Amino acid sequence: MPSTACDIAELELHELEAALGALGQPAFRARQLYRWVYRRGLADFAGMTDLGVPLREDLAGRFRIGTPEVVRKDVSIDGTTKFLLRLADGKLIESVFIPDTPSMTFCISTQVGCAMACGFCLTGKMGLVRNLTAGEIAGQVRVLAAATDMLDHPFNIVLMGMGEPLHNYDNTMKALRMLHSEHGLAVSPRRVTISTVGIVPGLERLGREPLMPNLAVSLHATTDEQRTALVPPNRKYPLAAILEACRRFPLKKRNRITFEYVMLEGVNDSPDDARRLVRLLAGIKAKVNLIPLNPAPGIPYERPSDERVARFAQILADKHLTVSVRKSRGRDIRAACGQLIVEGGTKKSAAQQMALLMK
Ligand code: SF4
Repeated sequence: MPSTACDIAELELHELEAALGALGQPAFRARQLYRWVYRRGLADFAGMTDLGVPLREDLAGRFRIGTPEVVRKDVSIDGTTKFLLRLADGKLIESVFIPDTPSMTFCISTQVGCAMACGFCLTGKMGLVRNLTAGEIAGQVRVLAAATDMLDHPFNIVLMGMGEPLHNYDNTMKALRMLHSEHGLAVSPRRVTISTVGIVPGLERLGREPLMPNLAVSLHATTDEQRTALVPPNRKYPLAAILEACRRFPLKKRNRITFEYVMLEGVNDSPDDARRLVRLLAGIKAKVNLIPLNPAPGIPYERPSDERVARFAQILADKHLTVSVRKSRGRDIRAACGQLIVEGGTKKSAAQQMALLMK
């Protein structure tokens, strides 16, 4: 059973100041605690040596520091490391450390499972189990940064792990504020990318955030029919509505929206698809990231040939779109895009069980 003590990992700095203030502690105590938890990676009070022993004991009696527990670590031949993390209620999630992309990058989950059910994604087969709390989202970064010796180094965060961040909007944004605190890890929003299938009201809210991360929209198709088959939320938020929201999105100077496009052989990888994509993105400050599928058992699609991917990319480039082809990282440990699925979860859908049986 999770402890019922107040969890410091769920508090923004001003909330921690208020909680400690109610105990008669000055505001700087909260800043000290934040530094221990975020910059030093501590998960208990005993090691906080600049606090007196009686205070440490008092805090340990009232609070806890909820921290995901590393259950397993798989290291790919390319250095990508997939972490299986256990949450306080026993649920399991995955987070990935991707070195040298060229920056160090943490790929973080925002939900246990995902409700979006994208046809090429193993996580989508799990269904949504629950939202992660803000502390659990930020906690993945604390744990991965400590485990990879990155607490004192700059890193990027991509919210591209399990889940749809804009489907868990409030907790995701609270986690980003906690990670941004100058007394914590001081992660600049410029180093954070939110990836979404295009939940239009969420995009509109995001456009009003004071801390504005980079935006990546998972497009994956160029007609509504094709996209609805691959990304079912397209029924509610079709291409025209998403692209209109993107046109209105208040980008900072020199920023662009990244459009992710998973390439599936014979489905969305033709020259006609490429030409339609060019037309769809007209008037948007865009760059396109092509992601040749990482095939997996239970996923009914194939990866196109390198030649087909290159031809698609060339059509975009000829029309002056910035285009990159994502190098697959961690495929040998199933840490690549769309391959995150928890194998020891407490609840599995029929589809998830099938995917696991076919591994
Ligand atoms: S691709 Fe992303 S949004 Fe789609 S099902 Fe997988 S985790 Fe969810």
